[in-house]
Amino acid sequence: MIPGSFELVRPASVEEAVAALVEHGDDAKVLAGGHSLLPLMKLRLAMPAVLVDISRIPGLSYVRVEGDEVAIGAGTRHHELEKDAVAAAEVPILPYVASQVGDPQVRHRGTIGGTVAHSDPASDLPTALLALGGTVVVQGPSGRRDIPITEFWLGFFETALAEDELIVEIRVPRTGSAGWAYEKFTRRANDWPIVAAAAVDGRVALANMAGSVVRATATEEALARGASIAEAAALADQGTSPGADMHADQDYRRHLARLLTRRALEKAAGAPAAAA
Ligand SMILES: Cc1cc2nc3c(=O)[nH]c(=O)nc-3n(C[C@H](O)[C@H](O)[C@H](O)COP(=O)(O)OP(=O)(O)OC[C@H]3O[C@@H](n4cnc5c(N)ncnc54)[C@H](O)[C@@H]3O)c2cc1C
Repeated sequence: MIPGSFELVRPASVEEAVAALVEHGDDAKVLAGGHSLLPLMKLRLAMPAVLVDISRIPGLSYVRVEGDEVAIGAGTRHHELEKDAVAAAEVPILPYVASQVGDPQVRHRGTIGGTVAHSDPASDLPTALLALGGTVVVQGPSGRRDIPITEFWLGFFETALAEDELIVEIRVPRTGSAGWAYEKFTRRANDWPIVAAAAVDGRVALANMAGSVVRATATEEALARGASIAEAAALADQGTSPGADMHADQDYRRHLARLLTRRALEKAAGAPAAAA
């Protein structure tokens, strides 16, 4: 399918991009890597009259240490994160999870800001970011504000971002050598997860178990009480509301959430992972 016609705006700075969003209101959409937005436009599920292309704004792609945190520019592509030496040393779950997104073409175009803004509950990087905790830094007409990652995703394709705001940066804590693991279950190597579990330092997040990526809070609370990994992982699907589709029904997704959580926690703890 061919998208409907649209005007393309190419701002040279974040300020110009925000001004374009203010000017065009809900007629406008930000375009980053285009790997989620363009498929929607081709299906005519999104028909923005104006695309604000942020891909040529300088200085939006970086990974750097700032105090106790790692700051990642919103325009950083999945491939750049996958290969980044600072990320590998300071927050190693992210390069690994970036390497699990789609195929090389997707990873060379898709950006971390795009996948965070898109709010697809089946996204890989948002699942890891939710397990890490941290902040989404956004810029609008009145300046910058920080949104805690735990408050950013409100539901299916729904976020705390206002219409005239742009994500400019993601900040996550430096985890260094703390245990981590990401377990993604797919039918084909380059697919979105049917279910995935990210574990970092006793925190667990799940993909595709609700309208947005979610924390496995019952598991986290059980671990904090001193429960074994097996006992805690058995609670991973509590409080979730998985959907059913041609890949998996709700019971199967619940089973996967428990199993992948157990495997992720065991790997993060350095123990051999559960087989079934
Ligand atoms: C074939 C294929 C396979 C894929 N496989 C996977 C997979 O296995 N796992 C996975 O997680 N993802 C997968 N993806 C999605 C991919 O990761 C996308 O790149 C990502 O979800 C969106 O990033 P983008 O930069 O392309 O955003 P775009 O498509 O440009 O934008 C997506 C949405 O975010 C908004 N947006 C973008 N950037 C910003 C910003 N800085 N501030 C505010 N709003 C913004 C846009 O307006 C739009 O609404 C796949 C995509 C394709 C096409």
